[in-house]
Amino acid sequence: MKMKFNLDRTTEKSAILLIYTGGTIGMKVDPEEQTLKPFDFSQILEEVPELGKFAYRIDSCTFDTIIDSADIEPASWQMLASLIEEKYDSYDGFVILHGTDTMAYSASALSFMTEGLTKPVIFTGSQLPIGVARTDGKENLISAVEIAAAKDADGHAIVPEVCICFGNCLMRGNRTSKVNSENFRAFRSENCPHLAEAGISIRYNTGVIIRPEDWTRRPVFHKDLDTRVSILKIHPGITPQVVKNILCGPETRAVIIETYGAGNAPSREWFLDLVKEGISMGKIILNVTQCLAGSVDMGLYATGKKLQEAGVVSGYDSTTEGALAKLFYLMGMHSDNDSVISGLDKNLRGEITK
Ligand code: ASP
Repeated sequence: MKMKFNLDRTTEKSAILLIYTGGTIGMKVDPEEQTLKPFDFSQILEEVPELGKFAYRIDSCTFDTIIDSADIEPASWQMLASLIEEKYDSYDGFVILHGTDTMAYSASALSFMTEGLTKPVIFTGSQLPIGVARTDGKENLISAVEIAAAKDADGHAIVPEVCICFGNCLMRGNRTSKVNSENFRAFRSENCPHLAEAGISIRYNTGVIIRPEDWTRRPVFHKDLDTRVSILKIHPGITPQVVKNILCGPETRAVIIETYGAGNAPSREWFLDLVKEGISMGKIILNVTQCLAGSVDMGLYATGKKLQEAGVVSGYDSTTEGALAKLFYLMGMHSDNDSVISGLDKNLRGEITK
């Protein structure tokens, strides 16, 4: 991937790298064609002159090919992680402009791929293009940049985490889901309080923010991902053939089951037999709830208990996006399933409440 750097120097306080991957935020109406087109991101200061009011150094770079986030792939996450790793010492924070559709997946992935962060990595985007009068993009971008640059009295980043900044809220990336395709509050983080809220000033929820054990240690960047995961969403009327295809498919190493409520699935014998068959084939089966809020607790109902007894692993209160990213990361790191399962049981990046 080629990157364009716009080395725009002003009086230096904090240095921020803006990385544009694509999505609505970077679009502008082409006056001739009357269609939305990506604008030249090196001219971001022309589009959002408010950014110039910060005494920050803001450099920008764009993906070679600007993509709708529906086309995001693990390779894009690997490119982002490599770029952040390469530029880590040159910047105080990173802002990633990304389409909203898969932003929760990308933020979840980057949270696992960057271990021991000491600097903010803030994803943002918008529902309306930045060139449109009522855009939410400017507000989102300005807040993201301010948060990425914010430091405490000791000079440490206030939010050294991978986050999503959207609709005046700062959320832990691996706790978010896109819940609205129209409203400016497109994301929710039901199982984790906001890390900050942007009103007249930005109020940080310092009790929730994760800080590194050692500020002097460089983060570890994990770029090996094993993506052999499928997702099975349980629903009334689901058939044995569909369940078998997903749970026992030869291509997968792990399956996330999206279950009802506190982790319940049909108690019918064929269903449990297929779960057992998948496990006996050596697959990791991870249970997350379809509910937006709350946690899996397989001990609560008989239907959940049977899954637990069969060897299904609890995803606790993780989002599906977070669970998928965690599996990609853990499976990329460990070739044995026991190590993956033991990692799933730990709170690694604030992704589960434990
Ligand atoms: N389809 C767009 C994308 O995710 C929507 C957006 O940017 O909000 O790239």
